[in-house]
Amino acid sequence: MKEAVVALDIGGTYIKGALLSKEGNFLYKQSFETIASLTKEEHKDHMINMLKVLIENLPSDYKLIGFASGSPGMADKDTVHIGGAENIPGLYGIKFSDVGDFFNIPSRHENDANLATLGEFVYGDEENKNYNGIMAVTLGTGIGGGFILDGRLYIGSHGGAGEIGHVCVVPNGLNCNCGSRGCIEQYASAAGFVNSAKQKIHKGIKKTALTFTILEEGKAKIIFDYAKKDDELALDVIRECGYYLGISISQAINFLDLDLVLIGGGLCKDFDMLIPHIKSAIYDYTLRIPARDIAIKSASLGNDAGLLGCAALFFYNEN
Ligand SMILES: [Zn+2]
Repeated sequence: MKEAVVALDIGGTYIKGALLSKEGNFLYKQSFETIASLTKEEHKDHMINMLKVLIENLPSDYKLIGFASGSPGMADKDTVHIGGAENIPGLYGIKFSDVGDFFNIPSRHENDANLATLGEFVYGDEENKNYNGIMAVTLGTGIGGGFILDGRLYIGSHGGAGEIGHVCVVPNGLNCNCGSRGCIEQYASAAGFVNSAKQKIHKGIKKTALTFTILEEGKAKIIFDYAKKDDELALDVIRECGYYLGISISQAINFLDLDLVLIGGGLCKDFDMLIPHIKSAIYDYTLRIPARDIAIKSASLGNDAGLLGCAALFFYNEN
């Protein structure tokens, strides 16, 4: 009998569900709606119902060996317990093992950005395994991250390692949802890019074709579209946001002597436009030897990284 894991990657809008094999193949995949207003008990029932749908599709030559899940918020392997999951408050305090127990299978839970990092390491580009100190950074609505150190996912004391989104790059800068100020998430997330464009417009620094579109539509993707047409404001925003991002990454490289940074997430589709500015800040703010040797690459698994990380929680042997 071959082995499979049932996985849920819980996001603010959708919950991605899948059955995965040891090789990282998707045996079945289905998305469900996130209902943010559910209570803790209702969330648990919702998860049990989703798992029933997924498990019904388990091929007959596979045996289910576990339930793995990822969500925003700091997690201690079974419970989401601190900050970061404010959009889905009913998740607080859920014991994910109650869901696994319903099906008589073991459960493992992890922060979503940590899972995406583990997924990239285990099932992404084979070359990733040649590095000792890896950070994956996910750019999207927020900025998340995770570390693989010496071949192991490093989650820290509270499951919150890799929270690069809340590294300060501008002292006394913009207020952040975390309660601090000047966090990189306020400058290089999707909203950060749009905000940067608006700030420049309001300061009267630039007036270009982008000026009118960005004020109307407010989407980060537009900034990259205009940059491809050499719009001066768009190029300026990408330069500034990319440089800030590079400053935050350089702090992690200095602390941990990293040798690989993977950058993924929705905003990473235009990785090539962002990378020179990230590198420029890394060269400016990182110690000489790691700066010389650091590899910066695009993550390869896209939206599947979190689900593959779920599979790795059961199938990857860290030793
Ligand atoms: Zn913050």
